Amino acid sequence: MRITADLTRCVGAGQCVLTEPAVFDQREDDGTVIVLDETPGDEKTVDRVREAVHLCPSRALDLVES
Ligand code: SF4
Repeated sequence: MRITADLTRCVGAGQCVLTEPAVFDQREDDGTVIVLDETPGDEKTVDRVREAVHLCPSRALDLVES
């Protein structure tokens, strides 16, 4: 599983960072998402990433199953 982020859609809402700060961060200049770990292995982390994908208001995040 790999996380993808579409920066053209990201509006910097920060829901992803609030949901899983070990995986997501935001750029200081425009608030768009930074994916710190594109392939987290821990199941609990993956569950929170799935929640973050669901919560993102602009549908900027996606999961590519491998
Ligand atoms: S929740 Fe979505 S819109 Fe907000 S910072 Fe994360 S990726 Fe961007």
